[in-house]
Amino acid sequence: MTRRLAGAMLGSALVAATLAAGSLPAAAAGEVNIYSLRQPFLIEPLLKAFTEKTGIKTNVVFAKDGVVERMKAEGANSPADVILTVDVGRLNDAVEAGVVQPVKSAVLEKNVPASFRDPEGRWFALTTRARIIYASKDRVKPGEITSMEQLADPKWKGRVCTRSGKHDYNVALTAAMIAHHGEAKAEEWLKGLKANLAQKAQGNDRSQVKAIMEGVCDLSLGNTYYYGAMRADPAQKAWADSVNPVFATIGGGKGTHVNVSGVALTKSAPNRDNAVKLMEYLSSDEAQEIYAKANFEYPVNPQVKWSPEVEAWGRFTPDDLSLAAVAELRAAAVKMADRVGFDG
Ligand code: FE
Repeated sequence: MTRRLAGAMLGSALVAATLAAGSLPAAAAGEVNIYSLRQPFLIEPLLKAFTEKTGIKTNVVFAKDGVVERMKAEGANSPADVILTVDVGRLNDAVEAGVVQPVKSAVLEKNVPASFRDPEGRWFALTTRARIIYASKDRVKPGEITSMEQLADPKWKGRVCTRSGKHDYNVALTAAMIAHHGEAKAEEWLKGLKANLAQKAQGNDRSQVKAIMEGVCDLSLGNTYYYGAMRADPAQKAWADSVNPVFATIGGGKGTHVNVSGVALTKSAPNRDNAVKLMEYLSSDEAQEIYAKANFEYPVNPQVKWSPEVEAWGRFTPDDLSLAAVAELRAAAVKMADRVGFDG
């Protein structure tokens, strides 16, 4: 019996499967089921190209959250083969919930650098995004801030804006601080950053840039793709125009903190072979270029060219800290945010 996707299913395959269904078990007859926390406009072009190449039909459920919970509830009967999501934290949540299984694939291991995949193959990054500092063009001189550590410098008192310290993006950043400097120094840093906030931690990454434009603060934390998104949106372009993106380093080295979007194979995958084919395709040069470009992200495969737009923002070296190490320290980072009263 083929397990069907229920709910908000969107069939995105334009080419019907042509495999001889009679000679194959139904579950293997040319389809793959996807639970996606990534938006349709990002993945539909990729799935279309995948189907054209392989004849494998793709079925997608798009969700804003709750995918892991849904899979736990469905258990062994889950129709999902792969999960597409953002943030190493969510990938790690899927691992910890026991809803994914390891993949051993020479293709994935070649295309995805070791620091951007789970050592046991339970998730693979597909795109990267840097977490950077947005600095007021008017009130911060180029070169005045170059590292994340400097955000705790009393010189910036009352001049920094950010979203919640417990949001996934900031949790990963704090976890990276802990990995680089140890708990005590990381906590000092987080306290210093909290002390420098111009207002209560709130909003999203883009609203901090708007606050810079409005003169509320001079620096903010934000992911890189929002710079592209703001520039592309006539209502937000002025926000982006008020700041310089600063590829601040972390850990005393040359690297910038990055996070990822990624993919994992579900434990119950009824179409396992097709799922692995899809995962391998998503790591290919062709797919990497399309995927990264659509959301102003960076291809995880270092051999694939950046889009001209993100290239124009500046080159940077990703921090070589393993994201698996970052994921392990997330719980400690959340506790630290509570201890320093970051959101209070
Ligand atoms: Fe985001």
